[in-house]
Amino acid sequence: MKPVVDRDLCIGCGLCQDTCPEVFVIEDDGLAHVINESPGHELYGQVRDAADICPVEAISIVGE
Ligand code: SF4
Repeated sequence: MKPVVDRDLCIGCGLCQDTCPEVFVIEDDGLAHVINESPGHELYGQVRDAADICPVEAISIVGE
C-alpha cells in the first residue's frame, strides 16, 4: 500500500496525524504529508482509518 495526500484538498485538520502519526504529519505548510510511503502491514488498519476519517477525502491508498 502507498498512502497519498492530495494537498489541494487537505484542510490541515490533523485528524490523519492523530490517527496514524507514523505515516501522516502536519508540516510547516500546515498540511498533511506522508512521511512513510510504504508502511508495514501493522499500520494498514491505521492508514485506512485515517483515510476514512479525513473530512475532505484527501487521502487515497494506491496499490491495493
Ligand atoms: S485528515 Fe485530511 S484534511 Fe485533515 S490533515 Fe489529514 S489529509 Fe488533511
